Amino acid sequence: MDLLQVMQRFPTQEACVRHLEYIRWRNKAYCLHCGSISVARKNENQDKGEVGRTGRYNCHDCHASFKVTCGTVFHGTKIPLQKWFLAIALIVNAKKSISSHQLSRDLDLNQKTAWYIMTRIRSEMAKKGGALLQGIIEADETYIGGKPRKPNKREDFEPSKRGRGTDKTAVIGAVERGGKVVAQVAENLTGRSILKFIRSVVNLKDSKLITDEFHVYNAVGREMKHAVINHADQFVNGDTHTNTIEGFWSLLKRAWYGQAPPLSDGIYSSICSRRLL
Ligand SMILES: [Zn+2]
Repeated sequence: MDLLQVMQRFPTQEACVRHLEYIRWRNKAYCLHCGSISVARKNENQDKGEVGRTGRYNCHDCHASFKVTCGTVFHGTKIPLQKWFLAIALIVNAKKSISSHQLSRDLDLNQKTAWYIMTRIRSEMAKKGGALLQGIIEADETYIGGKPRKPNKREDFEPSKRGRGTDKTAVIGAVERGGKVVAQVAENLTGRSILKFIRSVVNLKDSKLITDEFHVYNAVGREMKHAVINHADQFVNGDTHTNTIEGFWSLLKRAWYGQAPPLSDGIYSSICSRRLL
């Protein structure tokens, strides 16, 4: 995306915030402190003109407030998001590395601020997904490839029809609420292979795992806190839901089956999704 496109697509702080909310939450906001989906966006009308206040939410459960930028590269600055987005475009599109002096001239920022933005963007881009997932973790499994699955996931869960002998590939994934997602192809979906996956990507000691009632997760429940959402009864029970990982599957499948979501282009998504997915 070039500068003109960034300017046109993200003309206001609100447009930038809405874009990040789409990437992080698929527009279904949840509390970044306790995971509750009982949240409300604060007095929209009073937001106008105040960059720092746009898109703040209140949580009805833990009464904390939060913004989509919490815990991301954009967190805790008063620099308008449009300047951040432009800075990303400038840094990514630069043929040679751009200096903070150049960035400060281009974005009408003082040099110290430009340096700060540049450092944060570069370190975010350089990060590799090394750390374990921690906090509230949703785990789920799915099959990708072949024909799209039936909407009802339990109905067609027959080992004879799925997995080995079919053209679908089993994928297991875990997502940290408000954080990264890790997904990998699984040889099979047994308790043992799922346990191995969870152990390798999740900090078992300081996390709580949320899954559906699929029995292969029972083994994991013996090693860490584990909450189960029974999809036959309900899909959300307080902070017990797997909407985040299911959102990720649907995104992955739309990409796979060729219906890419409308707002997922380029570097913004990739930078944001590092913390935001
Ligand atoms: Zn909360």
